Amino acid sequence: MNLLEVRNLRVNYRSYWYTYHVLNDVSLQVSQGDKVGLIGESGSGKTTLLKSILQILPPQGRIVSGEVLWKGTDLLKVSKDYVTNVRRKEVGMIFQDPLGALNPVFKVKEQFLDILRHSHSDHDKSDHLSLAEELLRSVMLPDTARVLESYPFQLSGGMRQRVIIAMALASARDLLLADEPTTNLDVTIQDQILRLIGELVVKRGLSMILVSHALGMVAKMTHRVYVMYAGSIVEEAPTLKLFSEPLHPYTSMLIESAPRLASTRLGEGIKGNPPDYRYPPSGCRFHPRCPYATGICKEVRPPNVEVSKHRYVACHMYSEGAGGG
Ligand code: SF4
Repeated sequence: MNLLEVRNLRVNYRSYWYTYHVLNDVSLQVSQGDKVGLIGESGSGKTTLLKSILQILPPQGRIVSGEVLWKGTDLLKVSKDYVTNVRRKEVGMIFQDPLGALNPVFKVKEQFLDILRHSHSDHDKSDHLSLAEELLRSVMLPDTARVLESYPFQLSGGMRQRVIIAMALASARDLLLADEPTTNLDVTIQDQILRLIGELVVKRGLSMILVSHALGMVAKMTHRVYVMYAGSIVEEAPTLKLFSEPLHPYTSMLIESAPRLASTRLGEGIKGNPPDYRYPPSGCRFHPRCPYATGICKEVRPPNVEVSKHRYVACHMYSEGAGGG
């Protein structure tokens, strides 16, 4: 059985005037021990997908349809308490912004103990401090006493991100969701942090979904990759296959533009802009930017086709009878 299975998830955001059709029938699976990468330009819906799994969407977000099966139970059909418990004890998430993820007015110690009070409610309270120290040491923060007594602004960006990782590990007994865990960090420590996450995930026997623009690290740290474009999964493949022989036109362009994606000028490598989610393109959402688009691409949404073992692509060039693939 899959640890996590997302089926046909649709999510909208609503503003006063408009509805934004952000996730468009997204499906994804993570089995025990799986390391899954999720790649795509900024704004393609990756963060929305992770937040939908944990049901921590902002108030404008609404899950319209679909299923989020966690160990076989649909989290969209159970009580809030059940989901909160999964969030506190089974699935940890590392957010993009380490400063925003920590409360500036409380010391690290208070925030960490508060998390452990929920995630390790089965432990004696007196054990929580030593557990916090142990988790901080595991993320290579040796001076644990000083870190715990610090306010977030007194720590460097790299140290704050390590604190966030340690806190996420407290909750992640089964699955770690790492959403751009090195954004806003100095490039010199981005690799270090990603490597650390990779090592901890293996050491603790966790499964992981890694969202990152650092495609080289995704290639090293994952077994399987999902490619997301404009709220849809357009390709899924074993990592090595995906990077060596991308099938979907968008995947190829994304990989070709990797050096630019790894810098701050995200998305400049692919001509055109991601669509307006208020009025997403008909048919294949990528057709306005795709050099191979034909008439059918504008009219019919391409089915997700298994082109070879464990390889899926949503593109008419690979649909039966289209002569592709
Ligand atoms: Fe391009 Fe058509 Fe394939 Fe979409 S379905 S990626 S528009 S060829």
